[in-house]
Amino acid sequence: MYFERVEQYGVEQLVFCRDHKSGLKAIIAIHDTTLGPALGGTRMYPYASEESAVDDVIRLARGMTYKSSAAGLNLGGGKAVIIGDPMTDKSAELFHAFGRFIETLNGTYITAEDVGTTVADMDFIRQRTKFVTGISPEFGSGGNPSPFTALGVFHAIRAASLEAFGSAELLGKTIAVQGVGSVAYHLCRYLSEAGAKLIVTDVVQANAERAVMEFGAKMVDVDHIYGVECDIFAPCAMGGIINDDSLPLLKAKVVAGAANNQLKEEKHGDQLAAQGILYAPDYVVNSGGLINVADEWFGYNRERVLSRVEGIYNQLQRIFELSKEQQMPSFRAADRLAEMRIAKHRA
Ligand code: NAD
Repeated sequence: MYFERVEQYGVEQLVFCRDHKSGLKAIIAIHDTTLGPALGGTRMYPYASEESAVDDVIRLARGMTYKSSAAGLNLGGGKAVIIGDPMTDKSAELFHAFGRFIETLNGTYITAEDVGTTVADMDFIRQRTKFVTGISPEFGSGGNPSPFTALGVFHAIRAASLEAFGSAELLGKTIAVQGVGSVAYHLCRYLSEAGAKLIVTDVVQANAERAVMEFGAKMVDVDHIYGVECDIFAPCAMGGIINDDSLPLLKAKVVAGAANNQLKEEKHGDQLAAQGILYAPDYVVNSGGLINVADEWFGYNRERVLSRVEGIYNQLQRIFELSKEQQMPSFRAADRLAEMRIAKHRA
């Protein structure tokens, strides 16, 4: 039955990895290697069934193909899942066994951290294969990706601002930031340096308070962030926040933030466009972290990373152009652009 899903999503290879001694049960999905080796993190999660693990890994791998392509990287899309509880089921043996499986793929798949895995886990994997990024800085990594993600979001907001308001200048613009964690803390710094007025919220009040203290932000309750008067809404916490409940409340003219999977369903992307709100597609906006981790693979060069992260600005301009040209919402234009780049390489 998995062949059907493999075909439906266009997956090149689905690899089941089992090591009895360490208890490893993992699945690697190599979605598309047209642009290069398939890069994507390893997620560790106690999936209720093998089927749900397969579904997740395929969906995530496909997402990586689009993200890498849209970011202009010469990398394909892949992902891995380890079925297990990251709190109780980790061991050096488990990651060693997983590293051996990755090694057998000869570089078709390169792994990295994801939900449930850490830099320390990647370091164990590295003891068995070189096809791993997101390792400790002493082994050549670019360090914490959050500041790079934040810089990319900042350039994305400038590009969206140019499209929506006719100027990339953020001086005097009001920007509502949902969640002031690792990425958004740095983002708030960039925005405040550019002269934007910030409205912030966070379920952890101390995080929001830090932005109030350091950047003169105004703090609102978690439930009130959607309806505040602002120019730009930057979701930087969790996914699915553009939905039936939030859409009628939004007063912003732009949605551009770091969070993954912001649209609860595709129809919500269509609805944003229908409401005249410009949506900067999340996987393009937040690709700075991927650009940083991918660069380790080519021999880390901070200047190259910064220049590529800045390139998110131009990439979004292309997406907005295509969106207007083809009269399609921006999230569809982003997919189209990613597909076009792959098709061109395939030809
Ligand atoms: P984080 O956990 O450091 O920050 C998230 C913040 O949101 C936290 O301060 C948390 O308290 C807050 N939060 C959670 N639920 C909230 C809610 N309902 N309302 C308001 N605040 C809430 O995570 P992060 O690394 O900053 O990532 C933020 C988002 O960006 C995530 O969706 C992540 O998947 C995405 N992202 C992160 C990176 C990266 O480099 N870290 C890269 C790409 C995408």
